[in-house]
Amino acid sequence: MRVRSGAYDAIVVGAGVAGLTAALTLARAGGRVLVAERHNVVGGCASFYQRGGYRFDVGATLVGGFGRRGAHHVLNARLGVVVSPERIEPSMVIHLQDRTVVRFGDERWLAERARAFGPVAEPFWRAQERIADRAWALSARLPRFPAGPASALRALAALRPGDLPLAGTLGRTVASILPAAAAPALRSFVDAQLLITAQTSAREADLAYGCTALDLAREGTYHFPAGISTIATALARALRAAGGEIRYAAPVAAIALDRRGRAAGVRFADGSEATATRVVAALPVGDAAALCPVLEAVWRARLAALPQRWGAFVLYCGLPAGVVPPETATHHQLVTGDGPQGEGNTAFVSFSGAGEAMRARGGGRAVTISTHTDVARWERAQRDGRRPALRAEYASLLRAALERVVPGAAARAEIEEPADPLTFARYTGRRRGLVGGLPQTAARAVLGAFGHATPVPGLAVCGDTTFPGQSTVGAALSGYDAAMALS
Ligand SMILES: Cc1cc2nc3c(=O)[nH]c(=O)nc-3n(C[C@H](O)[C@H](O)[C@H](O)COP(=O)(O)OP(=O)(O)OC[C@H]3O[C@@H](n4cnc5c(N)ncnc54)[C@H](O)[C@@H]3O)c2cc1C
Repeated sequence: MRVRSGAYDAIVVGAGVAGLTAALTLARAGGRVLVAERHNVVGGCASFYQRGGYRFDVGATLVGGFGRRGAHHVLNARLGVVVSPERIEPSMVIHLQDRTVVRFGDERWLAERARAFGPVAEPFWRAQERIADRAWALSARLPRFPAGPASALRALAALRPGDLPLAGTLGRTVASILPAAAAPALRSFVDAQLLITAQTSAREADLAYGCTALDLAREGTYHFPAGISTIATALARALRAAGGEIRYAAPVAAIALDRRGRAAGVRFADGSEATATRVVAALPVGDAAALCPVLEAVWRARLAALPQRWGAFVLYCGLPAGVVPPETATHHQLVTGDGPQGEGNTAFVSFSGAGEAMRARGGGRAVTISTHTDVARWERAQRDGRRPALRAEYASLLRAALERVVPGAAARAEIEEPADPLTFARYTGRRRGLVGGLPQTAARAVLGAFGHATPVPGLAVCGDTTFPGQSTVGAALSGYDAAMALS
C-alpha cells in the first residue's frame, strides 16, 4: 500500500534558490506549500559546507542583484525577505596574461578601462552600458516569460517605449559590437567575463544578456559575512514564517499525474506520496523531465538539441590568519594560458572577508577556487581509474591560480578539498554534475529559452536552465515566474 505523506496546494521539488523563491511566492499567495529537498541543507549550488573550522561556499560566491534595479532586491521587497548584504568595491580583479584589470563598479571604472584597453574600446563600453541600462530597467519590472500566444501578446503590451531598442539586439552577439581592431586583451577580458556570467564567449553570447552580464559590477556586487547561502536560508526562513514546509532528505522519484494528465503530486524515493494540484520542478530541465515521462516525451527533441554544458572543478582551501593580506580584493578571475576557456586556463578565486568569524576560525579565510570543465573528461577518467590523477592535476592548476593572487598561500592551507563534476552530481543531484545553466547564446537566451509553464497542466519548471538563466538572480527570477505561471 502506498503511504500518503500529506496533501498540499503546491509541491516544489528542490530547495535551491529557484525552488525556494517559487515556494515562497506560492505561499504568499495563500497556498499550503511543501518543498521536497533531497539534501539536508537548502541552497543547492549556492549552499555551503563546513570543515575544520571553515565554512565554504560550495559553488556560487559572487552576489549581484541587490542594487536598486536588481532582481533579488525587487523580489525580496515583494516577498518580504529581509537580508542586508554589503556592497563591495572593487567587484573583482581580472588577471589577464599581460595585465591586471580592476573591475570597479563606480566611476573609477572609466579611468581603469581607458588605462587597460585604450580609447579604441570606448565605443564598445558605451554601447554595452546603454544596452545593459535598458535590460536592467526591463528586468526590474519582473516581466513574465510568455507561456503561449495569449501571454506573449500581454507581454508585448506591457513593454514601454524605452524597451523597444532591445528588440534590435535579438539574434545578435556581443562580438557584433566589439571593435574590429579590438586588442587581444579586450577580447580576452570580455570572453573571460562572459564565461562566468553567460557560460560562453563573445562570439556566441546573446548581445543583451552579455551586455547585462558585463555590467554586474556597475549594478553592484555584494557580499554576505556568512556566505552566499544567506540568500537561501533567508528565503527558507520567510517560507516557514509564511506557513510553508521544507522536507529534507526527501528525494522525489516521480511527478504524479491524474487521469486527465494534470499534475497531481509527487512520489518520493521511499515510495511514499504527497498530493497537490500544482507542482514546480525546480531542477535542470533534463532532470525535471526525467521525473515525468510525459514531459520527457514532449521535450525529447529540445533536450537532445541542448548545447554542450559545463561542469565545475572546485578547490576549497582553508587559510589560517595572516596569510591573506587584509587589502586583498574578495574576487579574482585569472586567465592563465592560451588554451581553451576553462580547464584550469581560467579560474575564479573568492575569499571570505577579513575577520568574518562565521566563515573561518581565528581570523582565517575560507577560499573557493573554481574552473569550468568538460564533464565527459571526468566520466572517462572515472571509467579508466584516472579520476584521482585528474583531480591532482586540476588541484595543482587551481593552487597555481591562488598563488598568483597571494604568493605563498597554497602551501599554508590547513584544509584543501577538491570537488569535481561527479562530486557536484552527488551533492546537488544534477545529472552528470552539469552546473551553471545553459550557454546564453543569441539563439537561446530569449527566443529559444525554456520558459516556466510546461505542456503538462499544473506542472511548471524553474532553475538556472530556464529563462533567464544561471546565477542566484536568474534562479530567483525563474522561481517567481514559475509560481506565477501556476497562479
Ligand atoms: C562552481 C560554481 C560557481 C558559481 N558561481 C556563481 C556566482 O559566483 N554567482 C552566481 O550568482 N551564481 C553562480 N553559480 C551559479 C548558481 O549557483 C546557480 O545558477 C544557482 O544557484 C542555481 O540554482 P537552482 O535553484 O536553479 O538549482 P540548484 O542550486 O541546483 O538547486 C536544485 C536543488 O534541488 C535539489 N534536488 C535535485 N534533485 C532532487 C530530487 N529529485 N528531489 C528533491 N530535491 C532535488 C538539489 O539538492 C538542490 O538543492 C555558480 C555555480 C557553480 C556550480
